[in-house]
Amino acid sequence: MSANEFDAIVLGAGAAGLMCAAVAGGRGRRVLLLDHADQVGKKILISGGGRCNFTNVNTAPDRFISANPHFAKSALARYTPADFIALVVRYGIAYHEKTLGQLFCDGSAKQIVAMLLEECAKGGVDVRTGQLVHDVTHADGKFIVRFGDASFSAPALVIATGGPSIPQMGATGFAYDLARQFGLKVVEPRPALVPLTLGGDDVLFRELSGIAAPVEARAGKAAFREAALFTHRGLSGPAILQVSSYWRHGEPVTIDFLPDAPQAWLLDAKRTRPRATLRAALGAMLPDRLAETLAERLGLPGELAAQTDRKLADAESRLARWDFRPNGTEGFAKAEVTVGGISTASLSSQTMVAKTVANLYAVGEAVDVTGWLGGYNFQWAWASGHAAGQVI
Ligand SMILES: Cc1cc2nc3c(=O)[nH]c(=O)nc-3n(C[C@H](O)[C@H](O)[C@H](O)COP(=O)(O)OP(=O)(O)OC[C@H]3O[C@@H](n4cnc5c(N)ncnc54)[C@H](O)[C@@H]3O)c2cc1C
Repeated sequence: MSANEFDAIVLGAGAAGLMCAAVAGGRGRRVLLLDHADQVGKKILISGGGRCNFTNVNTAPDRFISANPHFAKSALARYTPADFIALVVRYGIAYHEKTLGQLFCDGSAKQIVAMLLEECAKGGVDVRTGQLVHDVTHADGKFIVRFGDASFSAPALVIATGGPSIPQMGATGFAYDLARQFGLKVVEPRPALVPLTLGGDDVLFRELSGIAAPVEARAGKAAFREAALFTHRGLSGPAILQVSSYWRHGEPVTIDFLPDAPQAWLLDAKRTRPRATLRAALGAMLPDRLAETLAERLGLPGELAAQTDRKLADAESRLARWDFRPNGTEGFAKAEVTVGGISTASLSSQTMVAKTVANLYAVGEAVDVTGWLGGYNFQWAWASGHAAGQVI
């Protein structure tokens, strides 16, 4: 075998590519891992505010979005959060659960990148960065990758170049170009885990920029009970980021501003605090400026005692189902991930190999599998990378 020939070439040294290369290298395969960025694992380094939310102990297939909701099951079942935690523990990396099953490093995301690089080194993986992948061709059962001034070949190729979210970090739609080149279908990519923008009638809410409240946010059939944050462009915060992955242009995002309030709480308030205004009643449960804006929108000036029960019941139900009509998202520049991607219909869920091109694989965010906020996306990257790494 010449110096430029390998058993497998992995394109993209992010979470999925590093895992895939390390696992294959550990099996004794000669693996080349290529990335155009000057550094591997850049998204890992910035993730979780620099502490990397590396998995979620509540990982389950229903926390992933895909045209085929069953696709992720196999890989997720064969490489679980416990497997990744065991690796983290083996490397002596301290971690903690922050909230909702989300595990973060106590120290720094750099520890996760160092761990994966060490695993690659143990498997003899040849890691090269900082050059452009000019093109990829396939002839006589070999993939040939022109990288910088060199040409490399291998009978197996893994597409692990991620999705187009955060192009400033080196993210590209290269995975989709390659997939199309080899005849694989691509499900339309959309920004996900992304803030939503407000216009029209909702524009007044932008004045609440900086105010957050615990809400239940809904889009389509998805509902998340977490904090929502008003921004100078619209809506953000975990509840909104989560529903953004399900939201479609033209649809409403429905907010329950008081998900924990008992039924008929406003009628009770009328009986117990008849002199209070709607604004004061809301102010007892919500940030003051939000209470003021909502009360203004609802009308009903004066004391609660002066309102009919019917009007108060209507106000209560509006507060529980407040429709915002976002006019867009903040786009790939601000999206943590991408929904859509290389169609799962083109791939084996066991090995991630393409059904129509021998020895071509796709893993990680490049594939049409997108996790919820909270460590699920890394778990998919590890699991899918591991699935391919075991067979290439
Ligand atoms: C700000 C931010 C914070 C996040 N925080 C979390 C978190 O805490 N927990 C979580 O689970 N998920 C988080 N995510 C999502 C997570 O980072 C991704 O889902 C995950 O990195 C996907 O792994 P991947 O290996 O498929 O792609 P990536 O990690 O994006 O890796 C793709 C690699 O391919 C390279 N590449 C791209 N194009 C080319 C090309 N043309 N030629 C050569 N190389 C190329 C890139 O340089 C990159 O190294 C976060 C994302 C962002 C943007």
